[in-house]
Amino acid sequence: MGSAYILAIDQGTTSTRAAIFNELGQGIASVGREFRQHYPKPGWVEHDPLGIWQTVAEVVPEALAQARIAPQELAGIGLTNQRETVVLWDRATSQPVAPGIVWQDRRTAAFCKEHHADEPWLFERTGLVLDPYFSATKIRWLLENDPTIQSRAKSGHLAVGTIDSWLLWNLTGGAVHATDYSNASRTLLMNLHTARWDTELCRYFDVPEAILPDAKPSVSRFGVTAALPFLPAGIPICGIAGDQQAALFGQGGFRTGEGKCTYGTGAFFLLNTGVKPIRSQHRLLSSLAAMTDTTPQYVLEGSVFVAGAAIQWLRDGLHLLARASDSEALATRSSPEEPTLFVPGLVGLGAPHWIPEARGVLFGLTRKTSPADLARAALEGVALQVVDLIAAADLDTGVPLDGLRVDGGMSRNAWFLQCQADLLGLPVLPALEKEATALGAAFLAGLQVGVWPDLDAIRKMTLSSQRFEPTWNQEQRERKLRNWRRAVAATIAYYRDEA
Ligand code: ADP
Repeated sequence: MGSAYILAIDQGTTSTRAAIFNELGQGIASVGREFRQHYPKPGWVEHDPLGIWQTVAEVVPEALAQARIAPQELAGIGLTNQRETVVLWDRATSQPVAPGIVWQDRRTAAFCKEHHADEPWLFERTGLVLDPYFSATKIRWLLENDPTIQSRAKSGHLAVGTIDSWLLWNLTGGAVHATDYSNASRTLLMNLHTARWDTELCRYFDVPEAILPDAKPSVSRFGVTAALPFLPAGIPICGIAGDQQAALFGQGGFRTGEGKCTYGTGAFFLLNTGVKPIRSQHRLLSSLAAMTDTTPQYVLEGSVFVAGAAIQWLRDGLHLLARASDSEALATRSSPEEPTLFVPGLVGLGAPHWIPEARGVLFGLTRKTSPADLARAALEGVALQVVDLIAAADLDTGVPLDGLRVDGGMSRNAWFLQCQADLLGLPVLPALEKEATALGAAFLAGLQVGVWPDLDAIRKMTLSSQRFEPTWNQEQRERKLRNWRRAVAATIAYYRDEA
């Protein structure tokens, strides 16, 4: 067989990374580059699409140099990306016609509020809530606010896409306008049940269907590189998935009932629910998984806004730590008798509560409360929020989770992972590869070009021998969870009264 290296491009919200994996699934190079965030008005967040493309053009050759391989040795390219962010460009010139509107951008909040009554049918059809977070209202805004753009869109001169589509377009020299189902299912324009763009949804959001990309399974031959100064022509781009779905795939979560949590700035829990979309009763979202063929596969998703961000606050706000990793040693020194409890709603509470106006609250301060107790409370607060997500998912599916795969920055903290296992009463399984998102994109691409024969071969490369088993008895767990739930209820009551 020929070359067996796969290039993964992981285009995130604040940085772009190129990683190269060998046929054993081992990372042999990884180069990241941050790029500028633009905040033109309060609540607005924009990215320069050409600036993002420029970071790709920089990190790919640097990763190849670090790996000491020639670009001709790449068997394929996988893409993974920040989801929901939209780019609108001219098909003839490949130039963006507006800045990219980032998932965090709230400019369409008024539209969402006005149309709140339509949420039940939108939720039923898309698995998502009507929120500025998702792509559809952003595309609508771009078209509505510029009549020239609107008429050029209607006449078929423009193309729209999430970041994966934009990068694919550029990698293929403008030959391919496509996306994968996992990204498409985060736009509010795809019918979750049929995995097709939905004419009624497009009409509802005033988005002409002609400007949307072709949607395909995550494992597809999307196109080949062309006209690039930094890669030879003809390398297939053959794996695409949104970042959270890619991380689940990179951790081997292929089967129904397998779930993972990625702990970065926020925490994202995704559960594979198989061929059935779950209609959550607990405000969790349903989307399409990274799919290897056209048979729909679903995930249930819940996110908390503050995970690593709580540790950043201890470090940069309170100056209790020099480095995020110091939280581990500090928490170990906390006295178990101190009743400190932290509800880390620093920017509001996410699923399953969805109280954007809430803020963080510290309970149980005494004269003995120390920096160590605050560090412990912050780490526990993150873990307890994830316990709530998993409890909600268990109720929605009726099948309790039996172990949690974990990745992301905070998963390097062993004290935290033990705490997560104790609070969940479940084993916690850290990813073998810390860049599970990039690895997931590489797996998708490698499956398409035959670097790996099947999912079983991939699964073997994701299993870590490290496990964190729960050590608490049920009574200890229940006591802690009871106190946490009282604390969350008190926090919600306090901020609801204010609203
Ligand atoms: P993102 O992709 O959101 O930037 P990362 O996966 O790189 O996030 O994780 C970074 C986050 O993890 C930061 O918020 C940081 O505070 C936190 N973090 C990193 N290492 C540790 C650690 N050892 N213990 C606790 N938190 C950590």
